[in-house]
Amino acid sequence: MDALLRNDLKDFNNILFQTVRTAEQHLSRIETLPPGRYIDGIEKMTLPKKGIGAINTLKYFEEHFAGQLANSAGPRYFGFVTGGSTPAAVAGDWLVSMYDQNACGSHDSIAPHIEHQTINFLKDLFGLHQEYFGTFVTGATLANFTSLALARQWVGEQTGTDFSNVGLSAASPLKVLSGTPHSSIFKSLSMLGIGRNALAKVPTLPGREAVDVTELEYVLKVNPAPLIVVANAGTVNTVDFDDLEEIGALKKRHNFWLHVDAAFGGFAACSGKYAHYTKGINYADSITIDAHKWLNVPYDSAMQFTRHKDLQLKVFQNTAAYLGDPSKSPDFFHYTPENSRRFRALPTWFTLMAYGKEGHREIVERNCEAAHYFGELIKNSSDFKLLAPVKMNVVCFTLTNDDLTMENIKIFLDAVRDDGQVFFTPTIYKNTPAIRAAISNWLTEREDIDIAYRVINSINKKIKSVQPT
Ligand SMILES: *Cc1c(COP(=O)(O)O)cnc(C)c1O
Repeated sequence: MDALLRNDLKDFNNILFQTVRTAEQHLSRIETLPPGRYIDGIEKMTLPKKGIGAINTLKYFEEHFAGQLANSAGPRYFGFVTGGSTPAAVAGDWLVSMYDQNACGSHDSIAPHIEHQTINFLKDLFGLHQEYFGTFVTGATLANFTSLALARQWVGEQTGTDFSNVGLSAASPLKVLSGTPHSSIFKSLSMLGIGRNALAKVPTLPGREAVDVTELEYVLKVNPAPLIVVANAGTVNTVDFDDLEEIGALKKRHNFWLHVDAAFGGFAACSGKYAHYTKGINYADSITIDAHKWLNVPYDSAMQFTRHKDLQLKVFQNTAAYLGDPSKSPDFFHYTPENSRRFRALPTWFTLMAYGKEGHREIVERNCEAAHYFGELIKNSSDFKLLAPVKMNVVCFTLTNDDLTMENIKIFLDAVRDDGQVFFTPTIYKNTPAIRAAISNWLTEREDIDIAYRVINSINKKIKSVQPT
């Protein structure tokens, strides 16, 4: 054994303790770290011929990089839809690396059984029917990819073709319908050989991002079945929800696969106040829900659910002499894009055990209250304009400047970021350059909203004061 490696083996306990110290140091100065920061790049290093050992590496990292991290897992990072990590989730996640199980197999570890258990917890949390089969993937993008792979297989089977074996080359183009799809749907369609252009946008309701179901039915009627419908349960700009009950009812009259992208909107089901938004989700053939967003577990983690386990096996089965019979084996590597994967369910299991349904409902409701509060402040301000009513946890707003351009929004948001107290990301809402505040962190309190509001006002004044009038 290499001398440094042997030394670290002997020193393993101490290395873990020093790692805890580094983590503690991060916690102690977290308030002073900006939620987002622009880093232009880092100095190029050369691969060391002889290493420096774990403790020195830890020190080097602390000295050179740790202080430059952003507190994006903190209470005032409102960009994209970004959660943090609950204490229990962090504990689970640390242990994932310590145990280092391959959760894709099932005959040599308890890990896949805990993953099944965790999926059962989640079905309960999200009000999903027990019939759903679920797996962990890295993110909602991969959950959308996996779900649309099943949809593709289903379309083939409707016409007697097994795409998993013969491929798509002889197939007529597939068609996918959606009102306000997330960008990752297009990416998934590209990766699946279905193609981005296969997606036909269906008109949305007036002033809304939710699909107009009458229009959807019309498109289903005039296009030859089978089609794929992607319903959106929580759009990123306004957290608008397609009417899943109405869309589900269309299944009686039309033959289509229903995928529901509920990456963060799925958490509406956690709260009696918002659960009506996801009513009808059980009509779905496949569902995407993220864990690293509103469940507040560390990256990277999401779930994919389906009622068609058989199709999942057809698409993802990985047959090899040493892997056993896929029709008998429940191993996850026959069901997911990965053949090997970390014990990804454990942080989720930890946070659900630690805080239960109540704890996670409280996070969702507190975040939504914070968003509604921020929305009220924006609504009553003459310098900002609320672009859509606040439904759940996202506030979509813009500046009231006469020269409203994306460029100006970016200048404004860069200044807000560099001020170091709050972080937002830009968007375009119904052709208007805009700002999104997405609140999904377990730490966010009303005071954070007060700070955020003070910051945007002071930055706005500063920018206006230097502009020629
Ligand atoms: C975030 C998000 C995605 C993509 O999720 P990743 O976890 O970043 O892969 C897909 N759909 C919706 C609605 C989202 O909000």
